[in-house]
Amino acid sequence: MSVKKIYKVDVLIVGTGPASAAAAKRLVDAGLKVVAIDFRKLPRHKVCSGILSPRGHRFLIENFGPLPREALHDPTSCRGVTFHFSSGISTPMDFFGGPTPHLHRKYSDYWAIEKSRVEVHDETAFLGLKTDGKLARISARHKGESVEYQARFVIGADGPNSPVRAAVYPEYSKTLPWFVVAQKFHRIIECPLDEDYFHFWINSKLGHYTWSHAREGRLILGVGFRKGGSVEEHHKRFVSYIKDKHGVRLEPSEEKEGGAHNFGPSIINRYVFGKENILITGQAAGFFNMLAEGMSCALHSGAIAGEAVIEAMQGKRPVQEIYRTHIVSEVARSTDQYNPLRMIFANVHEADFKAALKKLSRRDQLRAVRDLIKFISLYGELNWGRQIIGQSIRRLVTGSYSTKRWL
Ligand SMILES: Cc1cc2nc3c(=O)[nH]c(=O)nc-3n(C[C@H](O)[C@H](O)[C@H](O)COP(=O)(O)OP(=O)(O)OC[C@H]3O[C@@H](n4cnc5c(N)ncnc54)[C@H](O)[C@@H]3O)c2cc1C
Repeated sequence: MSVKKIYKVDVLIVGTGPASAAAAKRLVDAGLKVVAIDFRKLPRHKVCSGILSPRGHRFLIENFGPLPREALHDPTSCRGVTFHFSSGISTPMDFFGGPTPHLHRKYSDYWAIEKSRVEVHDETAFLGLKTDGKLARISARHKGESVEYQARFVIGADGPNSPVRAAVYPEYSKTLPWFVVAQKFHRIIECPLDEDYFHFWINSKLGHYTWSHAREGRLILGVGFRKGGSVEEHHKRFVSYIKDKHGVRLEPSEEKEGGAHNFGPSIINRYVFGKENILITGQAAGFFNMLAEGMSCALHSGAIAGEAVIEAMQGKRPVQEIYRTHIVSEVARSTDQYNPLRMIFANVHEADFKAALKKLSRRDQLRAVRDLIKFISLYGELNWGRQIIGQSIRRLVTGSYSTKRWL
């Protein structure tokens, strides 16, 4: 295929999600010539619960301003998270600092990328790249036509399956355990679950990741499990469970969506930040906080990637060195969320689980902890236990996680 068009830019960003918008904001503000491409037509749909953490909320306000109404679902906000343990105990926990917006990702992502003032080329799919370390040539396709970008830097902000990451490290995705997450939408006949909260089940029988929340008068039921399992089976089990245990009665599901996700890298500190002038950020780099909260770390890591490029363009140090120096803080925030020592001795989450636990009777506390241990043991087959403990001790002794485990 002959190349129809060549664009010369300082930075090409692949993706237009939160990591991209944050990187773009920094780069455009610094006066660089930047293009962000997305293979979808914008505004694009995004499978997401849309529950923004307080930290993510602060980032959006500070960088892009107050959210417009169309960027919110109904209910427009979320008070916090309720854990439902297998022994029947439920613990609602409010977010620190009050409710946060329930984002309609199709419009909130579009709003943020527009606010960044980056030039967007949608319906443009990244296909591959070559780099000599100073100039990258990126091949892409726009509506069937071949396009080339020539960029001093590339930022892969292209989500869990990251084609940019695959271009740099073709074997990487084979080394990861992948999880399927899928959600179905039901009209509600009766639902006693409080719609002000995001609900999460700590129940090993239901799967690795089981959640529910209200949206536009319907209830979303989500299931997550190791790739290879069946969405239908998990979903059926969940529907029957919440009917029996919570009295939730639903119409048959009307819609289903989902995909494969990389839950592991944040948990065991195995991030992927790229090579030479190709930076990888957001969920593509492995940022994923507890309960699949990925927007705040996508925003912050994206901004750090953008800042690293700006500093590198001043010719001081290689961009990877700068990026890897500054990303340490975001790595600590994400990986701390899974670090048992930090969970016990610090406040690493944005709702107070320890306080919620303290409100329970002694007997219920013991039951909740027992359920939690049983739930965590579901992940035993992944062999993460030793790595989590090793990284937690290193964090305790040296103050940071090992940078040698990153790609
Ligand atoms: C079911 C579910 C529920 C979730 N709920 C929450 C939640 O409540 N709160 C929360 O904070 N997080 C949640 N997350 C996680 C959150 O959605 C992600 O972590 C976050 O969107 C990551 O942002 P990102 O910018 O790194 O990537 P993304 O938002 O995934 O953006 C990547 C972009 O890259 C584009 N792209 C991909 N391939 C190409 C290509 N070849 N060429 C060009 N463009 C390409 C995609 O179209 C996309 O626009 C949830 C995830 C799932 C799956």
